[in-house]
Amino acid sequence: MDRTGPGQKYFIVTKGKAKPGKKGISKGCIGYVETETKEEVIGPVFTSGVKGSVKLEKENLHMLSKHQAQLLLFVSPSSKRLEVLQKEELFRAICCLVQSDVVVVQHKKESKPGVVQGVMQIVRKESYGDVTMLGFDVEITETERKAAFKKESALPLFSAGDILKVIIDSPPSSPLLAGNKQEALTMKDVLGNNSDPNLVQRGQDSRNSQISRGSGPPRMLRSTLEVGSMVEFKAINLATLYGVVRWIGVPEGKNQPWAGVELDYEVKGCTDGKLGVHRYFTCNGNKAMFVVLKNCKPDSRFLPLPPYKEAPQYHELQSDGSFEEDTDVPPIPESKVLALLEGRMKGIQGHYNSCYLDASLFSLFSCCVALDSVLHSSAGSEKHIQKILRRDIVNRLRRQGFVPAENVMNLRKLLGCDTYLTEEKDPEEFISILLNQVLSVDPLLKIRSNGKTQDSYTFQIILEKEQVVSTPTVQQLLETSFLTCDLKFQEIPSCLIIQMPRFGKKYKMFPQIIPSTELDITDLLHNTPRECFVCGGLAAVECYACVSDRRLMPGRIKQYCRPCEKQVHSHRLRRDHRPRELTLPHSFSSADPVPRQKLELFAVLCIETSHYVSFVKYGPGKHSWLFFDSMADRCGGENGYNIPEIRACPQVGDFLSQSEDDLAKADPCNMDESVKRLLCDSYMCMYQCPALSLYR
Ligand SMILES: [Zn+2]
Ligand SMILES: [Zn+2]
Repeated sequence: MDRTGPGQKYFIVTKGKAKPGKKGISKGCIGYVETETKEEVIGPVFTSGVKGSVKLEKENLHMLSKHQAQLLLFVSPSSKRLEVLQKEELFRAICCLVQSDVVVVQHKKESKPGVVQGVMQIVRKESYGDVTMLGFDVEITETERKAAFKKESALPLFSAGDILKVIIDSPPSSPLLAGNKQEALTMKDVLGNNSDPNLVQRGQDSRNSQISRGSGPPRMLRSTLEVGSMVEFKAINLATLYGVVRWIGVPEGKNQPWAGVELDYEVKGCTDGKLGVHRYFTCNGNKAMFVVLKNCKPDSRFLPLPPYKEAPQYHELQSDGSFEEDTDVPPIPESKVLALLEGRMKGIQGHYNSCYLDASLFSLFSCCVALDSVLHSSAGSEKHIQKILRRDIVNRLRRQGFVPAENVMNLRKLLGCDTYLTEEKDPEEFISILLNQVLSVDPLLKIRSNGKTQDSYTFQIILEKEQVVSTPTVQQLLETSFLTCDLKFQEIPSCLIIQMPRFGKKYKMFPQIIPSTELDITDLLHNTPRECFVCGGLAAVECYACVSDRRLMPGRIKQYCRPCEKQVHSHRLRRDHRPRELTLPHSFSSADPVPRQKLELFAVLCIETSHYVSFVKYGPGKHSWLFFDSMADRCGGENGYNIPEIRACPQVGDFLSQSEDDLAKADPCNMDESVKRLLCDSYMCMYQCPALSLYR
């Protein structure tokens, strides 16, 4: 006889002795309906000592589905089965359990959280014909330390009676949390035609990982929070707190799983990983908080993005509470930078090859005002993108220290070409398109060449390798490049973005380049007072032929006052030199001291195996350097998200403040990793003119 087919009926004895005098049939016994009348059923009872079919009164029975019967059969002793059945809601949830569900089980008189590894068929010798029992293979979530001791001992299979709680931590949109739990997990789903649960035979591979539940509502995938998950939860004062799960377990004296969360910020009254007298993990003081696990949900700031979602409307973007206001935020003051920016999930979150863009935006806007004027320029027709850049990226970064990938994605969508959504691009291309085509900002650079002025947004170093030393400074590269191509700045740039002589990841001309922290462009300026190379007086002419003269500091630009020019060019080897007249601003008097025009380094964008990162100088202090990587880490595999990270890099400041001679001698083998990266991978060096940047 086939008792395993779908739609078969089973029963459990619920009252007294179902049939007085019939030995062995007591409460909790489970049987199978062979035939039934209005008031009675006839069929075998799965209990030892009873052979053959028996006749039982329906009023003493409760009808079961096959799946329910199988689950209850494994509950022992049989008297306990009715208790399980009475906890209706819990039993419904137990009937729906599949792999990866989180439960609390009774194990060695303790309640422990665990993850269902499989629903197992249990075949025993004394089994009941071809009806197998069902149990659960549950892996108990232990603290790391405890787990180390217990690893070897295999856990028993758990019965439905061992499961104290089913934790449903579906996404908030799930009907399971919307008060419709009953509806979502109705008996109909369990009893429906489909009595084919997710069975896994122990010792065999999963044969049937598909769960079909008839016409019932589809089961929501439960997001699994685990150690390392970024979570958010509401504090008692209803503020949303964010952090990383560092521990999951049932703390002493509690009966459900809790999460030990290391918060993003220190919060007064929090611990360093202790709850009561017990330590569950270790972190900095005032950062550990313990929360009932089910009250945690995945950090909504970092939920994975659907690749091509429609851009949210403004009212949606504004819904995030206190950030509705559109007031501008100045760059983060030096004294507050580390508190706001240092750590994981800081800076701009990377997504789909966005690192070129994240690194560019972070470099240009986090701590520097050189380009703030573009956020307000009225020239561009693209007010929408300007607003996104200003409010959702720059202001958000300066206010909160973190910009979710979604905000950057909204900007990418508006750059005019779909390739910006997914493809890796060059930072210079992005900067030019953003400033020129999108924001219609005036070119940052006006460079004279042969009497004509050329406009651009970035400057590419062009020279021959042999023209400079093997480890050149940016100052040397820029000067040589200007000399080689006979260029002059028409005016002092407020922001000078210099591209190093390299082509992406494929080729770099110099193994290392030293980013000059200060760039003296006095001699590269058109129409500006300059010092005589010899006596320091006001120069009147410059001589390109003298640049490479080995007796006169080769490589340096040479300009002279009239007496010195005569002297230098009286040498027989220099008699054919044709110095050029310099022009001076009309207002300048030769009695005034010659001012030096200097730009300050504020960021270095680096590339390493086609990944862009950046170093940013966040204030005048020597040590005020940050390292930013928008994809420092990743959480959750293919459907996960990137974790951007910012680190303080005072060692970069120490290194760069050495004398030029010491810098030239520096050996990359003995360098700090960050310093090495700065020198070996530099792709763009960004300079600002502090006096000018605010007024453009
Ligand atoms: Zn002179
Ligand atoms: Zn000369």
